[in-house]
Amino acid sequence: MAFEGLAERLQGTLNKIRGKGKVSEADVKEMMREVRFALLEADVNFKVVKEFITSVKERAVGQEVLKSLTPGQQVIKVVNEELTALMGGEQSKIAVANKPPTIVMMAGLQGAGKTTTTAKLANHLRKKHNRKPLMVAADIYRPAAIKQLETLGKQLDIPVFSMGDQVSPVEITKNALAKAKEEHHDYVLIDTAGRLHVDEDLMKELDDIKALADPDEILLVVDAMTGQDAVNVAESFNERLGITGIVLTKLDGDTRGGAALSVKAVTGTPIKFAGMGEKVDALEPFYPDRMASRILGMGDVLTLIEKAQTNVDEAKAKELERKMRTNELTFDDFLEQLEQVKSMGPLDELLGMLPGAGKMKGMKNIQVDDKQLVHVEAIVKSMTKAEKQDPAIINSSRRRRIAKGSGTSVQEVNRLIKQFSEMKKMMKQMTGMQKGKGKKKGGF
Ligand code: GDP
Repeated sequence: MAFEGLAERLQGTLNKIRGKGKVSEADVKEMMREVRFALLEADVNFKVVKEFITSVKERAVGQEVLKSLTPGQQVIKVVNEELTALMGGEQSKIAVANKPPTIVMMAGLQGAGKTTTTAKLANHLRKKHNRKPLMVAADIYRPAAIKQLETLGKQLDIPVFSMGDQVSPVEITKNALAKAKEEHHDYVLIDTAGRLHVDEDLMKELDDIKALADPDEILLVVDAMTGQDAVNVAESFNERLGITGIVLTKLDGDTRGGAALSVKAVTGTPIKFAGMGEKVDALEPFYPDRMASRILGMGDVLTLIEKAQTNVDEAKAKELERKMRTNELTFDDFLEQLEQVKSMGPLDELLGMLPGAGKMKGMKNIQVDDKQLVHVEAIVKSMTKAEKQDPAIINSSRRRRIAKGSGTSVQEVNRLIKQFSEMKKMMKQMTGMQKGKGKKKGGF
């Protein structure tokens, strides 16, 4: 999960102060010492850490915080606000040109995830903003980069402009822009060449494309897992080329968070998107406030709701609610639910968005294993139609058959059937409670 290590340490430190009714200046100092260690360990740039600690301390020892009724909470609020500010404060959106097409140059070193991100961004623009993007294959040096973009384009059904690897990137860009105008594309995403290191040839080539295309946005793609290296790369690109935004990829595997927390402060360029996985829909707009909340274990319910809105069919949700009320839930409904949850992303990532998930008793020991879901799915799929509708008929010989058919064990089948019947019981009780609440209306 993103920022797991940092989140754990910060939350551990902040929890000591959270409930305190009285907080002294010494308490704040001690806490900030621990926060400082946590940030340095997370590979946050040391200058950034220093400034961060200074501003939190200044605010936290202020009268209005220490003398407030909930000083512990107030200190955490200050840390949250300063973390948000560190990552850029407000969300920075992708540029929209006054006159279409909006031209976006994608830059970055090899392996950072530039080509994948180009496709993810095109998909995002079409899906979330109803745009008609054109992707341009101008990375003529990395073997297979053109093919990779074309494959992604086919998969997404988004056009890719390419002229092979024997034409200069500037020439490709020129032709692509003409084509975009002709076919009324409103976004042009240019996948430029990467290199293993920042070098003069690369910068010169990018400069030439920039001069020709006059882009509205130059997005630098950096790998979050490389920590301060990513920050240094961003600094070089910014000095030489001038970038307008950063895409941090592989945040899904970044337990430390050093790049995410330093790159805006060091380069002055905001993070606009975060890559959260290898799949084409694993790209999220970067919201500094939501990210700060996630790090501090306050959850990110907004992102969770947005994910649910995109992936959950409302009519089906209503029907499901009716079935829960009337106790008609079947294994078919259960399977459908499972599919929807799965489409929202890996389970541990979803759990990380729940407030206090990190602190929940025993939560750390729960292995949220997406493989278990696969077993559950296989078991339900091995049931007959009648069994799915009425699990009561599943006797022991049927259980043996289901276990065999799904490649699981009878114990696993037993467990699932038991869990399902308990879930139904619980739903009945819950809906009963809600009804009771309704009746009480007006009285106390
Ligand atoms: P490029 O050389 O910069 O064009 O890099 P690619 O787009 O080929 O990506 C390099 C590798 O990183 C591929 O295996 C991608 O699947 C992977 N990758 C890209 N973005 C992400 C991300 O956000 N999360 C994860 N886990 N992998 C990613």
